[in-house]
Amino acid sequence: MEIGAQTILFVGSALLGLIVGSFLNALSFRFNTGQKFFSKRGMGGRSRCMRCAHELSALDLVPVLSYVFLRGKCRYCGARISWQYPLVELVAAVLGALVCWANPVLTSSGVQPLPFLFWFSVWMTLLFVVMYDLKHTIIPWSCSGLLAALAVVLLFLNLQTLHFSVPGPWTLLAGPLLALPLFLLSLVSGGTWMGWGDSALELSLGWLLAVSIGLSAGVTALCLAFWIGAVVGVMLLLLSHIFFRIGFFGYTIKSEIPFAPFLVLGALLAYFFHVDFFSTLSALFA
Ligand SMILES: [Zn+2]
Repeated sequence: MEIGAQTILFVGSALLGLIVGSFLNALSFRFNTGQKFFSKRGMGGRSRCMRCAHELSALDLVPVLSYVFLRGKCRYCGARISWQYPLVELVAAVLGALVCWANPVLTSSGVQPLPFLFWFSVWMTLLFVVMYDLKHTIIPWSCSGLLAALAVVLLFLNLQTLHFSVPGPWTLLAGPLLALPLFLLSLVSGGTWMGWGDSALELSLGWLLAVSIGLSAGVTALCLAFWIGAVVGVMLLLLSHIFFRIGFFGYTIKSEIPFAPFLVLGALLAYFFHVDFFSTLSALFA
């Protein structure tokens, strides 16, 4: 009985992720592009094909399945549909399931929907930040602000008991401390090595990880971001050298490589999979 309910919640979370992922796709194509997502008449018109502008029916908008059945092409004009749509939807579904796994709604002390909803909002916002940074190499301030607000809520509110809680000094310092290296990189380079938005994002990530797992998880996540970022950066550079003559991959040493995807990936490994290089170090501070 208990296992059945857990499974339903697990699948439900993945489906919720699919739907939100589909919404984030639509938002990413309309956000800051002058196309209004919400018009005065409510939802800003129906979704249309980007090329033929044909209104899309409900059948064309089923997450992932529509893409598979339409074989990645518009039903009306045959235009290729970006693989971003099904990819983001799948990632959002996996994130939804992971959040449910990390924050069980059914606990021994009763039904606890709030931690799930809180972390679901956090991870969906982070997914949007990654999508946006990959596309525009910038992090929208509205997203950084939302994440900072969520982090501050987590700092002072126990999501299980809904009681006010005062975090320890290391937890309070975690955000600014982890954002500092990124902030300094931006300061020294005038924002060319590292965008200002990255330190704003790391401020929230530092707090979120410090409260939920510990300061060491935050440090681990930041190290992972730099290491994975360095490996991917070098790989892109090598590829751009190899394919330079045929103009494949425009990455050079001066190319701005978005860093938010690496920060979020590091945080993902630390939060969901408890990757922690410094647990012994943090035990000293505890
Ligand atoms: Zn079309």
